[in-house]
Amino acid sequence: MKYVIIGNGPAGMSAVKTILETEPNAQIIIIGDEEVPPYSRILITYYLEGKITKEKLFIYAEELLKSPRVEFKYPVKIISVDVKNKYIYSSDGERLNYDQLLIASGASPKLPPQPGMHGKCVYTIRNFSDVEEIHHKLVKVRDCVFLGGGMVSLKMAQALKRNGVKVTMVVSGDHIVSQRLDKVGAQIVADYLKSKNIQVMTNEMAREIINYRNRKLIYFSSGKKIETDMIIVGKGVTPNCNFIDRNQIKVNQGIVVDEHLKTSAVDVFAAGDVVESQDLLYQKYRLNPILPNAVKQGRIAALNMVGIKCSYRGNIEMNSIQLFDLPIISIGLVKNRNNQFEEITHYNSCNNTYKRLLFDGDLLVGVIMIRDIKNAGIYHQIIENRKKIKNKKELLNSGFNLLKYIKIPKEGIYAN
Ligand SMILES: Cc1cc2nc3c(=O)[nH]c(=O)nc-3n(C[C@H](O)[C@H](O)[C@H](O)COP(=O)(O)OP(=O)(O)OC[C@H]3O[C@@H](n4cnc5c(N)ncnc54)[C@H](O)[C@@H]3O)c2cc1C
Repeated sequence: MKYVIIGNGPAGMSAVKTILETEPNAQIIIIGDEEVPPYSRILITYYLEGKITKEKLFIYAEELLKSPRVEFKYPVKIISVDVKNKYIYSSDGERLNYDQLLIASGASPKLPPQPGMHGKCVYTIRNFSDVEEIHHKLVKVRDCVFLGGGMVSLKMAQALKRNGVKVTMVVSGDHIVSQRLDKVGAQIVADYLKSKNIQVMTNEMAREIINYRNRKLIYFSSGKKIETDMIIVGKGVTPNCNFIDRNQIKVNQGIVVDEHLKTSAVDVFAAGDVVESQDLLYQKYRLNPILPNAVKQGRIAALNMVGIKCSYRGNIEMNSIQLFDLPIISIGLVKNRNNQFEEITHYNSCNNTYKRLLFDGDLLVGVIMIRDIKNAGIYHQIIENRKKIKNKKELLNSGFNLLKYIKIPKEGIYAN
């Protein structure tokens, strides 16, 4: 049986590993359009920061990469899929047939439409080549402005700061990390960033970027302007579905899949950032582009591809980051429009410890933890398993025995 996988990120690589483990007669072709062999995307900012060497990005074991049953093709860009005749086509004119196809093409950074966003010295952060290019330019860069302040921007800001670059983070909303932190939590992080000499500006929308004396000049809607050497745009990601004919494979925002991660086309599966998957809290299919989902979905799609029927139950949003020495974790729902949820918080201003629990009736639906991240994995389990909570205040206390709420799975509890 010939398995073809488009995308050699975590979803694709997890599928390769699973097929190798479960199907002795499998012949696998995995295709990626980047110049380098498969690597860990989530480590690229640590490489720029100098925390790890380039070699450490390439995390996949030799036996996987050298397996005679797997062919790695890169850089090869797939430009179309013919599901009727079971072919995929690449930009260099090659045609490949498949018995089973997995689309694990991930996502790409969104670029806002304002003039100048595509210019020189304006970057997004997604691929190894993005950080490698910045790496080479660093000697000439004194300052950098971030347009957008999500978790990836925070990681990148830290990396640049450690390289001696003056960093300013500008967001259009009223607080940074708006998708994953509430206003109080975001203010704690913004104050912390200030203590590291990273400035935060809120409620500022970039209107235009122009070249100015070998530098960049950003005009904001408020009338403010900032001059800088480098701009990094961090406005979220969009699924890589451009090469898919929507009459052949159903796509909404991302590829539509069922609980077996099968698409609307025969023998075509999809996994990772490119799909819309079941969100256990929103109770609907939506984009949830994070690493653990990609890995799990890659595995489950692969099991179904080799004929082992299994279902993907769904996921909840979750992010964690170690910002310099400040750990931050956000699990589940964050927004509390019209106070629809009950909020219980604890803030210790002496050591900047913040915890915010969000309840929908007697169900825990969201947790934000700053500095004290003890038991994050158990909170995750409580949310995921929809455990009813009688004493909500008790849950705030990190010394409290949360284990009474969950059964520990054989593989243990994970926080990330
Ligand atoms: C700097 C950074 C830090 C991050 N940190 C975290 C973190 O701490 N925790 C977390 O949960 N998530 C994190 N993420 C997100 C995480 O990396 C993604 O959720 C994950 O990589 C998704 O895996 P994937 O396999 O679905 O897609 P991808 O990793 O995007 O891989 C898909 C691959 O397919 C290739 N491809 C696309 N189209 C084609 C085509 N037509 N032909 C051939 N190849 C194609 C792409 O170039 C890419 O190499 C981070 C992301 C970044 C950029």
